[in-house]
Amino acid sequence: MTELDDQVAIVTGGTRGIGRAIAEELADGGAKIAVVATTAEGAARVAELLPGAGHAGFGVDVSDAAACTGLVSAVEEALGPPEILVNNAGITRDNILPRMKDEEWQGVLDTNLSGAFYVMRAAARGMMKRRSGKIVNVSSIVGLTGNRGQSNYAAAKAGLNALTKSVAQELAGRGVRANAVAPGFIETDMTDQLPEDVRDAMLDRIPLGRLGSPADVAKVVRFLVGPAGAYVTGQVIVVDGGMVM
Ligand code: NAP
Repeated sequence: MTELDDQVAIVTGGTRGIGRAIAEELADGGAKIAVVATTAEGAARVAELLPGAGHAGFGVDVSDAAACTGLVSAVEEALGPPEILVNNAGITRDNILPRMKDEEWQGVLDTNLSGAFYVMRAAARGMMKRRSGKIVNVSSIVGLTGNRGQSNYAAAKAGLNALTKSVAQELAGRGVRANAVAPGFIETDMTDQLPEDVRDAMLDRIPLGRLGSPADVAKVVRFLVGPAGAYVTGQVIVVDGGMVM
């Protein structure tokens, strides 16, 4: 018997990096994971490798509102009603303000902010009816501090923080909790693209003296969706080795 036994958890962006670590961590806690990514094949491949049984993969572009509504129904049909939702899917399209193209701005807002809204809206109805649910949105410290070259990404993450707090207030009375985690610099495909000097400069700013791992974030998500997090809602929990204090 583990603390998330048989609870159905949707994890968007669950094929790689932080999302994959979250899927593994929640599966280790006994949850049945709906792994969501851009392709059904990629998602199914990861679902098969997770510990435990009863997982499934779903290919859904979270920036597509109708597809997100369909996702929640498909998960319910395949695995059962979702008790946990982790909105983790995210992209970067960095550029400085005067050069930022409309599609770079809009693409990041659509995936990182609207995507979380679409899936939450679809999942919240059932959670409210069942008077039970846990939502975690994967934000970023950049949503708190801003960042040069990431006005689109920072705006999306700041919006996600405010969205999380609003949803937490709306749903608390129905037994549903909503929190965000704000990672700092975590070693994933997303940060692998950064030049060596930028990584070194980043490391200098981390009091704990190392870059974060996806597992560092996943363990905090497990706490938030589990019984130990029962009295926590509407929070943005920073997981960054002390970069932002
Ligand atoms: P990553 O390694 O680039 O993985 C991104 C994941 O999101 C993949 O599973 C990808 O699926 C999925 N995805 C991307 N666009 C999607 C879409 N439109 N619909 C559905 N799935 C989509 O990213 P990461 O570094 O783990 O980041 C995960 C989250 O943490 C993001 O929200 C990011 O903003 C946040 N974050 C990361 C860091 C960091 O340092 N890495 C720091 C702060 C916050 P495919 O495999 O199908 O492409």
